[in-house]
Amino acid sequence: MQRRDDEWKEVRYVRAFVEPRKVPRGRVLVHNHIRPVGFRPDYPVGWSGFRAWTMKPHPSVGVCKCGWAPLVRRHYRVARRLDRSEAQA
Ligand SMILES: [Zn+2]
Repeated sequence: MQRRDDEWKEVRYVRAFVEPRKVPRGRVLVHNHIRPVGFRPDYPVGWSGFRAWTMKPHPSVGVCKCGWAPLVRRHYRVARRLDRSEAQA
């Protein structure tokens, strides 16, 4: 189910089990705050509540240095406050 605020952020979810390699110009790669057991840099999107997407840059996300998606130079994670819907999924 898509949240209404996905529209202004132009969220596009990363397909499950696809390792992100490129981020379109003008967008940023973001994942939720879920850090599953066994989390590693190539952890598959879609497992254990771990979700990722690209969106336009926004203050609600900050640079993340967890080591995930090593093929992408920089990625972000959401502020926990905005991540409740994923946490409950
Ligand atoms: Zn991260």
